[in-house]
Amino acid sequence: MTSENSNIALSTQTSSTILSLSIAPAKVIRGSGALASAGEYIARFGSRPLIVGGKHSLSVVEPTLLPVLTEKQLHFASSNYAPDCSETSLKSLRKSAKEHKADVIIGVGGGKALDAAKLIGHQLQLNVVTIPTSGATCAAWTALSNVYSDEGAFLYDVGLERCPDLLVLDYDLVQTAPQRTLVAGIGDAIAKWYEASVSSGHSQQTFIIAAVQQARVLRDILFQKSAAALKTPGSEEWREVVDATVLLAGVIGGIGGAQCRTVAAHAVHNGLTHICSGESIHGEKVAYGILVQLRLEEMLQGNLLAATARQQLLKFYAEVGLPQKLSDLGLGDITLVELQKAAEIALAPKSDIHRLPFKVALEQLMAAMVSTTAPSDGRDSTNNWVTSRVMSDEVEQ
Ligand SMILES: [Zn+2]
Repeated sequence: MTSENSNIALSTQTSSTILSLSIAPAKVIRGSGALASAGEYIARFGSRPLIVGGKHSLSVVEPTLLPVLTEKQLHFASSNYAPDCSETSLKSLRKSAKEHKADVIIGVGGGKALDAAKLIGHQLQLNVVTIPTSGATCAAWTALSNVYSDEGAFLYDVGLERCPDLLVLDYDLVQTAPQRTLVAGIGDAIAKWYEASVSSGHSQQTFIIAAVQQARVLRDILFQKSAAALKTPGSEEWREVVDATVLLAGVIGGIGGAQCRTVAAHAVHNGLTHICSGESIHGEKVAYGILVQLRLEEMLQGNLLAATARQQLLKFYAEVGLPQKLSDLGLGDITLVELQKAAEIALAPKSDIHRLPFKVALEQLMAAMVSTTAPSDGRDSTNNWVTSRVMSDEVEQ
């Protein structure tokens, strides 16, 4: 079942319908050196693991992982998911798993490698272990995989039967990743608040309320700790930020389900993947997408809170190094045709952008995409109007 289907199911969810949630991995082992002690847990799932990862992450993880597997007398094989978490790669990974007679899949790496490993495990009904090597996403946690073209353009996502059976978060591995990946993870994690509060902020359902509030807590933790964490990789604060981007972000996806996940920030990301050739990573595009979403709320709704939030985020982005505008994503010289293409894909009929509480025209989205760093509309020239808007909001509430 794709998340589009599950979204439909969840949006019509009431307390009397049957709810199926995949909230969390069955087990999480976390800590410095965690991988070295994961052998006994992995061995419970099978004796013939297939390790799925990219060339780089395999080279980082295998020196620790292979002795662990050997000690437990497990017969392992490795397979590269290149060029992407795409249908071609998934087909060849399924072949490798069958040839090896794999009985457990171990995903190592960033979001795409883990998505590929999880999806293979789902399709072949095998247990899945995830070992993230960066703090760039919560893919190690969630029951969701994104599928891309061989060239890296986002195609669709797949809701999985369950979250991974085991997640091993070893800080020593995450620390080997470039700092930029954790910065991107911070962008992807804060998006949960800006998107969930729009799509689900008015929900009366217990689990959705809990997820939205956790998204706010996650954002606040990252506002408070990110700058210090990035200055001192490996420190206590850095670990707390890694926990936030890899684990807590996953908890929110798990509790909230598909309804709580995405709105315009991820829709803009999805559109950009069709014109980017890999200069920027997922969370960077999503972070930029949050600014576009706020800009839309500001331009089309006259939303003062969105205007303030965008200015607050621009300061935060400058502090941690997240992209504020297209040129920061390496897209400073794209043509109008390319901008329009990205916007059209973001506005496709089934896109999550339509969860915004107002309609967005192509020209409006394109305008928002090129004005993410504009001075706030509301405060300077239209003070009176802003005041009345705030008052009318108060009256409505
Ligand atoms: Zn994301």
